[in-house]
Amino acid sequence: MIIWGSKGREKIVARGQFHCPKCRTDAEYTHRRVSRCFTLYFIPLFTLETLGEYGLCHHCGVQLPAELLMLTREQVDAAWQPWQCVECSNVNSAEVERCVNCGAAPPASSHSENGPDTPAIT
Ligand SMILES: [Zn+2]
Ligand SMILES: [Zn+2]
Repeated sequence: MIIWGSKGREKIVARGQFHCPKCRTDAEYTHRRVSRCFTLYFIPLFTLETLGEYGLCHHCGVQLPAELLMLTREQVDAAWQPWQCVECSNVNSAEVERCVNCGAAPPASSHSENGPDTPAIT
């Protein structure tokens, strides 16, 4: 009787240092590739298909699309688009909806799709 099948296998294809967009620190990462292998008697013989790739931050444990591993610190910062408070000129990260220093709303700009208290200009 021949026992064959397939199973998922995870392989580390690269490791190094990157600037994590989640925890925003310089952290260790591993770049992993998940693939399905053809197995014969439970021994993986060859790869049937690549299911996907992801990067794992060893600092915060987040799983990211592999492309994000290539980002530089500048690109991460740009993607976060910190905004400056018009009231107190405190610089806030993009994830906060109000100034962490004085509680003022961010200047009305591009990403105000769902602002419930946007004054209607008539
Ligand atoms: Zn992280
Ligand atoms: Zn402020």
